[in-house]
Amino acid sequence: MSPITATPAVQLRRLNKHYGEFHVLKDIDLEVAQGERVIVCGPSGSGKSTMIRCVNGLESYTDGEVLVLGHALAHEGAALSRARQEVGMVFQSFNLFPHLTVLENCMLAPVHCQGVSRAEARERASHYLDRVRIANQAGKYPGQLSGGQQQRVAIARALCMRPKVMLFDEPTSALDPEMVKEVLDTMLALAADGMTMICVTHEMGFARQVADRVVFMDEGLVVEQGCPRQLFDAPVHERTRRFLEQVL
Ligand code: ADP
Ligand code: MG
Repeated sequence: MSPITATPAVQLRRLNKHYGEFHVLKDIDLEVAQGERVIVCGPSGSGKSTMIRCVNGLESYTDGEVLVLGHALAHEGAALSRARQEVGMVFQSFNLFPHLTVLENCMLAPVHCQGVSRAEARERASHYLDRVRIANQAGKYPGQLSGGQQQRVAIARALCMRPKVMLFDEPTSALDPEMVKEVLDTMLALAADGMTMICVTHEMGFARQVADRVVFMDEGLVVEQGCPRQLFDAPVHERTRRFLEQVL
């Protein structure tokens, strides 16, 4: 199959969003190919979270279009629930259910949202917990794990839905420094497996390793984008340069 004709994993077309008077996303056009790894960076408040939350329907938008694997995302109904199943998301704050064990956290959505049998959900959970190298903690509760372990469970939990695209919103920002690497290593392994990823992060070393493309946002705009070398070593825009000076 020619990659040129493959349906893009994600397309944002002239996406606009307002919070009241505040114009938070301004004519965002972004296309992510299947298997592509895109890193999104930019100053705090530039709209990065809002943009990626639009991709799986966590956020509504004022105008424009979001397509996931060629299907337009609706604000409700079957199209929205399909998009939610195709797009997994990992948050800064893990968001695991504290009253459920690691295994139960991973089994919940496949059983309740995909109608998977408990036996199959358990098998999937074991498989992905093994992939994030945390299978030995399956019977524990989130509160008994370190932040890095909890984030790896959150990644496994998202993978249990067999998503086609994974979104990460600053997945290492809430972690103690010594735990950042274990989570980034997990994400590198996922990238090596060919997962389509959109990741908001300021981990520039990781971005250089994994990204096919880096997108820089400021004040609700995609200011510039390019391969990591182009964007990090030869940014065109003054705003990009100023931002990179602070994080590199
Ligand atoms: P980033 O992830 O780049 O830090 P966000 O997407 O979280 O930025 O937010 C972009 C802007 O939108 C910020 O100025 C933020 O204050 C504003 N914002 C986010 N959520 C809301 C909300 N629910 N109501 C009003 N303004 C919001
Ligand atoms: Mg954010």
